[in-house]
Amino acid sequence: MVASAAPFSILDPTCIIDRMEGMPIFDGHNDTLLSLHLPNRGEGRDFFARSDLGHLDLPRARDGGFGGGFFACYVPNPEDERTEESALIPTETGYEVADAPPLDPTYARGFAEKLAQMLFGIESESGGQLRVIRTADELELCLGDGVLAAVLHFEGAENLGPDPEALEAHYEMGLRSLGLVWSRPNAYAHGVPFRFPSSPDTGPGLTSAGRELVRECNRLGVLLDLSHLNEHGFWDVAGMTEAPLVATHSNAHALCPASRNLTDEQLDAIRDSDGMVGVNFAVGFLRKDGAEEEETPVETVVRHVDYLADRIGVERVGFGSDFDGAKVPCDIGDASGLPYLISALRARGYDDAALKKLTHENWVRVLRKVWRR
Ligand SMILES: [Zn+2]
Repeated sequence: MVASAAPFSILDPTCIIDRMEGMPIFDGHNDTLLSLHLPNRGEGRDFFARSDLGHLDLPRARDGGFGGGFFACYVPNPEDERTEESALIPTETGYEVADAPPLDPTYARGFAEKLAQMLFGIESESGGQLRVIRTADELELCLGDGVLAAVLHFEGAENLGPDPEALEAHYEMGLRSLGLVWSRPNAYAHGVPFRFPSSPDTGPGLTSAGRELVRECNRLGVLLDLSHLNEHGFWDVAGMTEAPLVATHSNAHALCPASRNLTDEQLDAIRDSDGMVGVNFAVGFLRKDGAEEEETPVETVVRHVDYLADRIGVERVGFGSDFDGAKVPCDIGDASGLPYLISALRARGYDDAALKKLTHENWVRVLRKVWRR
């Protein structure tokens, strides 16, 4: 894709929506449930009403061509309602975040299940406008019919509670995606702490309970999300899983050396497994300097797409916005700004066939392979 080095330009936005016909955006990660749940983040907003708070609600999803995505159940530390990439401590060369302590699994399960119930509540209130999907067929139907497709994702396996056998019960409930860890340790693995600049190689790999959980995910057909796992854990999963390797919301370490991003070697393993990467819009994981600066051009996202497409193939790249969980480039702003990204990709030389892959076809292919239905 870098070969057709057309200059970047943003087209007239009124034309963009028309040209997105047939390319609903299915997205690898949002923290909208937490944002709606925590009064200090959501400020009472409602998923069905347009807000200028946060990034994602149904009206803005419609405006931006957002066709659905992974809805994360993320559990903040009870004493500390910071989320994801906030609470950065500056260092001489970048930043670090004080290591997050492990969560009590009983607390985590209760909180995560509240968020999951909120998603099912939105589904039943939506009058058919949002559906929690369990198969790739359902995903395709939703994308074709303009129904918002939501995948229930647990960001951290402590959310299953103290008993890992609870995975099956959660699967029955509708859980189809699990990150072994968020950026903290638990009984299964060690999450990568937020640091810049830093290698993702920050600690030990999977525990024996973690290995058992990988086998269970394979058996049931639950996607194992590798974003937030440290490098040792990544290679442990890569060495044993039967499923394609997927990082739902991570970027290229070569362009932004944050601990949360993927090295070239990790990307090659994802390519070889025919998995994929969802490009994260968090400015701190996009920018070369790692700065938490909203004044970051949309072309910074395009550069990561370019790099990943060159390295692992355009059929293995999608989006993983981190809407409602991170600072995103002001050019995008929120879900209604997605057409600006599509426009910038088009200006860069991505044609309709490539854009369909990036916006949803790759996710459909990989989820069909992982879920096996
Ligand atoms: Zn995350």
